[in-house]
Amino acid sequence: MTELELRKAICEVGRRLYAKDLAVATDGNISVRLGPNRYLCTPSGVSKGFMAPNDLIIADGKGVKISGAGKVTSEIYTHLAAYEERPDMNAVIHAHPPKAIAFTLAGISLAECILPEVVYSIGGVPTTEYATPATREGSEVIRGLIRQCDAVMLNRHGAVTVGVNVFDALFKMEKVEHAASTLLTAQLLGQVPRLTRDEVEKLYVVRKDYGVTGKAFKCETCSSNTGQTCPSGTPPTTSLDQVFEETLRALEARP
Ligand SMILES: [Zn+2]
Repeated sequence: MTELELRKAICEVGRRLYAKDLAVATDGNISVRLGPNRYLCTPSGVSKGFMAPNDLIIADGKGVKISGAGKVTSEIYTHLAAYEERPDMNAVIHAHPPKAIAFTLAGISLAECILPEVVYSIGGVPTTEYATPATREGSEVIRGLIRQCDAVMLNRHGAVTVGVNVFDALFKMEKVEHAASTLLTAQLLGQVPRLTRDEVEKLYVVRKDYGVTGKAFKCETCSSNTGQTCPSGTPPTTSLDQVFEETLRALEARP
């Protein structure tokens, strides 16, 4: 991927986050790892729905700007902590998925294994301690959890997802909000039972067999050791990188 392609991909992901109400106004931030000490990230104070490739900033591993006109995103330390903890991942998204945030406000965890498809793809979504947004506190509260899984809720604030590329991170963000939305509706309709431990174990086998990458959080009920992560499989023949390149090509081919 060239740097220009990555810039275009970030802008496309920004438009989708904005259009799907996952990042309103100037909320949210997106980054990709360009190299060992170089990160391409969204600027602070700009709507993620209206970015152009040249608006993006390159920052170093300490969050200091290397190039670009605007200011580095206020959540850069949270992104850098995620990259430090997850050398297997190349993209980080922070957004404000409204229903998922509402679960953290109500003190209801999204870490329980309820929806099989979510357990299969991202696992449970645990919630961090509260940290003041846009400060270094965010980077401290996220470390322990992002080490174990690809999607984390920031208490009273938002969500962070990591991906092998920026579209992978977007899809995980969409899944977090979709799971919250489904659960909310289900809870309005009646009681929502968890999957049994056996059912969850079977899902982890399928997950491994299909080569789902990334790490999935096991909830307390399903794991003998709290926070134990399930094994991730060997990547399938169609890699997420291929999906990424195909998506970009399709976008480029648009009139
Ligand atoms: Zn935020």
